[in-house]
Amino acid sequence: MNGPVLEISGLNVDYGLGDAAVRAVRDIDLTLNRGEILGLAGESGSGKSTLAYAITRLLPPPGVITGGHVRYRPAEGGPADRNGDALKAGTGGAGVDILELGPEQLRAFRWQEISLVFQGAMNSLNPVHSVRSQLTDVLVAHRPEMSRAARNERAAELLSLVGIPADRLGSYPHQLSGGMRQRVMIAMALALEPEIVLLDEPTTALDVVMQRQILRQLVRLREELGFSVVFITHDISLLLEFSDRIAIMYGGRIVEQAAAKDIYRDARHPYSHGLLHSFPALHGPRRELTGIPGSPPDLKGMPTGCAFHPRCPKAIAPCSERVPALAPAGPGNRTVACWLHTEHRSGDS
Ligand code: ATP
Ligand code: SF4
Ligand code: MG
Repeated sequence: MNGPVLEISGLNVDYGLGDAAVRAVRDIDLTLNRGEILGLAGESGSGKSTLAYAITRLLPPPGVITGGHVRYRPAEGGPADRNGDALKAGTGGAGVDILELGPEQLRAFRWQEISLVFQGAMNSLNPVHSVRSQLTDVLVAHRPEMSRAARNERAAELLSLVGIPADRLGSYPHQLSGGMRQRVMIAMALALEPEIVLLDEPTTALDVVMQRQILRQLVRLREELGFSVVFITHDISLLLEFSDRIAIMYGGRIVEQAAAKDIYRDARHPYSHGLLHSFPALHGPRRELTGIPGSPPDLKGMPTGCAFHPRCPKAIAPCSERVPALAPAGPGNRTVACWLHTEHRSGDS
């Protein structure tokens, strides 16, 4: 795998201000490598979408990024060659910190370098505009130099990239199936050939066969076009099948991060283990579905220590008092935040 294309460090996101603030994303350290599919899993409310919105600076109010860095191409001087001077400012040779971009810089950055397919996005296509006009709108906004003919040609090319015949360009969203609408959203996200595509639950509303078809296509496109993907879902069996690496979130933190095959073979964090045993395995021996007892934590009253301790079948003495830091746990760049695997290290509480 190539070097990092995105490096998130110490990222914190709150909803609300002052005493009313709740922390939805906590101390996130995460690296996305070039060409990699990174899966992000966790139960509802674990902070997956919040993290995606923060990375792309699309966090809706009252969301506030209260700390951290999100460095794009951290090992380089930033993408100035693609975007001209707009992104040169403030790179300091350590990539672009997305959190420091001004509004104009952000406008140039989004879609072009990083794009996000929102959760439930297939319902956000404009019902009164054809697929052609929605695809070409992105090009009009970001490639004003393109002729109308070139834009139409590119729109047709984008549709066929995601497996939709170009003769559907004139269709309106209601004339397309759910799977096709979702593919159109993915085509829009790929329109400007970004380096990173974030997909937030891109297939949840679709049937299983359609989900897999779309994801298989995405993996093929990634191989052809070389972009990196952050793929978010609560369905860990999909991630095991399609990701290179998986990060698992609980209560706003990453609790385990490892190669997908390592998570499958040997999930170390008790929560990862619980998630793995909440979905039927697609391949290999059948696992007993035990699920995870209890409910995800309430942000307004997070448990002390390890937030998972009230539900954890393996909790030990320090678990209810001290937060275990995400720390290296074995070969293959695996990291785990659990007192069973981490000695004498503590994160912020
Ligand atoms: P899902 O799988 O349901 O999409 P998620 O992992 O994407 O869940 P987020 O949507 O990121 O979770 O939410 C993380 C936490 O932040 C949740 O506890 C949620 O209630 C809280 N939250 C999200 N949006 C807001 C908001 N606008 N105001 C206050 N709290 C919010
Ligand atoms: Fe369970 Fe303790 Fe590990 Fe948390 S730190 S997952 S409570 S064993
Ligand atoms: Mg979400």
